[in-house]
Amino acid sequence: VLSIRDLHKSYGDIEVLKGVDLTAQRGHVVSLIGSSGSGKSTLLRCANLLEDSQQGEIAFEGEPVRWKGRGRDRRPADPAQVTRIRTNLSMVFQQFNLWAHMTILQNVMEAPVHVLGRPRAEVEEAARGYLDKVGIADKADAYPAQLSGGQQQRAAIARALCMEPRALLFDEPTSALDPELEQEVVRVIKALAEEGRTMILVTHDMHMARDCSDRVIFLHQGLIEEEGTPERLFGQPESERLRGFLSITG
Ligand code: ATP
Ligand code: MG
Repeated sequence: VLSIRDLHKSYGDIEVLKGVDLTAQRGHVVSLIGSSGSGKSTLLRCANLLEDSQQGEIAFEGEPVRWKGRGRDRRPADPAQVTRIRTNLSMVFQQFNLWAHMTILQNVMEAPVHVLGRPRAEVEEAARGYLDKVGIADKADAYPAQLSGGQQQRAAIARALCMEPRALLFDEPTSALDPELEQEVVRVIKALAEEGRTMILVTHDMHMARDCSDRVIFLHQGLIEEEGTPERLFGQPESERLRGFLSITG
């Protein structure tokens, strides 16, 4: 679905990604782990073109992103391609970013109706289905402030699903939540992994990374330090840095 080769990204003079490869195959879950500042969020944001990158290739469904300019001046050349990629790689953030003045159902329906231009009735039926899937069908008419953090994050997941994307990108979806609420979100993500959704999951939760992923990538200072199956990576970490990281995060 998504293939990234040798990606470089700098903010000013600071190189944050120093040549990263990432492939998300259809139906697979790839987890990104690594210390704070290692570049995990930046990689996700570059992947769906929320951020510009200066070097390297990104291909979505085999179709390479077309660029204009080089280096610092490099930008995607085709706005229609950017929209296509962004709507097909739906992001779920740490902060749920729900619209406070809209009900949960309206939040979930917003982008499919207004960005994709799909018929309202059809979207409403789908939206109610996704709310049911994440276990909050009864909250459709509530406002975000009336929901717990875990329920709000599940609403954000329903909203991402309602775009019917080719892949879901999660950036620390549980790290703003209390431990009890974390589990209800982990359960939803695990269920999505089991039904064969393509996902890239940035997480500090090593249990979730182990239980949900087909591959795990350990980023260190903008480079892939080690990657492999969760069994291998957590069972027999090779790099000293990964061993150190795992001993701290548990
Ligand atoms: P965390 O686990 O804390 O979320 P991360 O692995 O997601 O960390 P990034 O957010 O990708 O790390 O940041 C990587 C580096 O890029 C950091 O050193 C950060 O300070 C820097 N950085 C991120 N965003 C910007 C920005 N908009 N401008 C300048 N520097 C930035
Ligand atoms: Mg981050």
